[in-house]
Amino acid sequence: MKAVMYHYVRKENDEFPSFKFLHIDAFKKQLDYLAENFGILHPDVLKESVITGKPADGVILTFDDGIKDHYDFVLPELLNRGLSAIFYISTGVYESNRILGVHRLHLLLGKFPSGLIYHKLLGLVKNEMLSHSHVKEFQTIPYSLQNNDEYTNQVKRMMNYLISYQYREQVLDELMDEFFGGDKKIFESFYLSIGEIKKMHDLGMVMGSHTKSHPVLSKLSFQEQQTEIHSSFDYLENICIKLPYKTFCYPYGGFHSFTNETESILKNAGCLFSFNVEERDISEMDLKNRPQALPRYDCNCFPHGKLWENKKVTE
Ligand SMILES: [Zn+2]
Repeated sequence: MKAVMYHYVRKENDEFPSFKFLHIDAFKKQLDYLAENFGILHPDVLKESVITGKPADGVILTFDDGIKDHYDFVLPELLNRGLSAIFYISTGVYESNRILGVHRLHLLLGKFPSGLIYHKLLGLVKNEMLSHSHVKEFQTIPYSLQNNDEYTNQVKRMMNYLISYQYREQVLDELMDEFFGGDKKIFESFYLSIGEIKKMHDLGMVMGSHTKSHPVLSKLSFQEQQTEIHSSFDYLENICIKLPYKTFCYPYGGFHSFTNETESILKNAGCLFSFNVEERDISEMDLKNRPQALPRYDCNCFPHGKLWENKKVTE
């Protein structure tokens, strides 16, 4: 049994020449491939597998971050094929009305040269703004698998992992103001609206929590982690009426991004299963022993899943 993770699925946009996304045409081809080779399962099959401890044959589709692409491009394709999937939402954006830090970085690095963003950051981020716990593991693990240039890796590492959260927003506010004139205009077209989440739920899609504010949970206290997880499930329950079951996925993913505490908070919150990012199948042992850290492949592990940068061809 496999789970596959997707983020952006869209068409090219000349305004963002180095934005990384899966093209909708490649997504359709990958769905054909997965259906032909493994079969695509309804998320409820995984729910049953967690309860019985017996993996089924096939693939579960999952989509992270609650981005508008999932309504505009993914939903019609799933409905066409009679499929369902799990969509993981970071619910805090509906209260803050601001784009999450992780996505602000995608926008900045998608539109402007990574070296320019990196050098701007060097001017804004002072040494005392970096938190020095976990520095060693965060220096090496995250992004070692992504195919980024070195400036991009440095920017992401500094802003997603190393900077103390108390400074992160203000630094990103400054960058967004300077490069985009703020993020208000982009916000509306970036995330699913509440109406769209409800509609997707009503059309048989499964909605899960991806925390409130998309933090690296291992950087937070027990109390802070609890708030991130509980408030996000509560928010979804309020807008989706009733979640058939609770499911979660870890922001950023990988074993460095959460702790044993996180898993126990999820279990105690009644969460049935949670996804990590790990390139292997879901085994019987995973279902029985560790349902709060099920492995999940990135879409780039399968044919047609390589992310695309719509660099303009100038020659
Ligand atoms: Zn995410």
